[in-house]
Amino acid sequence: MGTELFRELACMVAALAEVQGLRSFALPYPGLAQRALDRTVTHCLDVGETPPRSLPELWEWCRTRPADDSLFAVPSSLVSPGAMLVHPVGRMPTRSCLEVASYGPDGGVAAHACALLGDLETRCGVGERYRQCRRFLARHPVVHQRDRFGPGWNKAVWSRVKELYRPLPESLLVDGIFLRCSSCGLPALPREPAVPLPAPSAADGDLWCEGEECPRDDPPELIREPDQTWLLRRSLRLFLALPHCTEEAALNELDHARIGYEAVPGPLSAYRLRETGPEILDIQVYDRLQPALLAAHLTDSAPLVDRTLVVVPDALAGRDGYREAFTDALPAPLRDRLVLTTPVDLVPDLGRARGEEKDDA
Ligand SMILES: [Zn+2]
Repeated sequence: MGTELFRELACMVAALAEVQGLRSFALPYPGLAQRALDRTVTHCLDVGETPPRSLPELWEWCRTRPADDSLFAVPSSLVSPGAMLVHPVGRMPTRSCLEVASYGPDGGVAAHACALLGDLETRCGVGERYRQCRRFLARHPVVHQRDRFGPGWNKAVWSRVKELYRPLPESLLVDGIFLRCSSCGLPALPREPAVPLPAPSAADGDLWCEGEECPRDDPPELIREPDQTWLLRRSLRLFLALPHCTEEAALNELDHARIGYEAVPGPLSAYRLRETGPEILDIQVYDRLQPALLAAHLTDSAPLVDRTLVVVPDALAGRDGYREAFTDALPAPLRDRLVLTTPVDLVPDLGRARGEEKDDA
């Protein structure tokens, strides 16, 4: 019950972030926000907690009450304890929020990214033309007017993808300036001095970026002409642009090892390896903070080939409990077929997978 409510609130936060700046909630609330508020009130009465009185208060709950809060009691086997829906510093949907909102039959935000890419693929017709557009989107979550006069600008590609961009929303501007993280390339915001952190930690710092995990060695890029800047749709920023450097790192490793591959048609970051004998071996690339939700997504997204190496960033796979949570969330028959790996481990893991195949034969 609490888990279902947490998911509903995640969907609400994701949807509200699309339709408006998050600082103003006027009555009447959007239907889905009103429903989420009503559900929360009912749940609070059921469990004997004081309910929130308004949408701003509910929003504040999403910024201060983590998944393992007694109100939600989401099991740690599903969502990591401490995961919030609204980022304490950025006051925007967290990556975990968007991943939770993608957990469920309709596939939420991640499915929205896939649908947009599916439409693009249909519009492009030819495979290579689509790959080119997809690459552009992945490398350009933010497009500035001056990029259009720079080297490597492709007018034909831009005309096919420009409808996937939007003007910068007010909510991402600070005194008319847009901040872009120098590491992930996604929007960033400084902490509002007036907003206290629920649980200050070194990791939160004074700057938020959509990638959330970035090093803060370099200051963000300041873009002073927000009216000449376009921003890729949120679902594609998080589920296409963010994993892209992991995807490029993985493909580089394959190239170095002279392992042939081809892109699997469709919206996923998926590649089929060549010359793998009778076994069909794919790699799929993700950058997800919640390993159990990633496992659930892979379990639901049939068809599975003989074996899929699921590549995630090195920093994530090295995290305490990440691999275990991923494996534990898979149904037993899939545990040998979905192998979690990283760009660095990809080629050795591939060698092991092929060795096992030979042993089986
Ligand atoms: Zn970043």
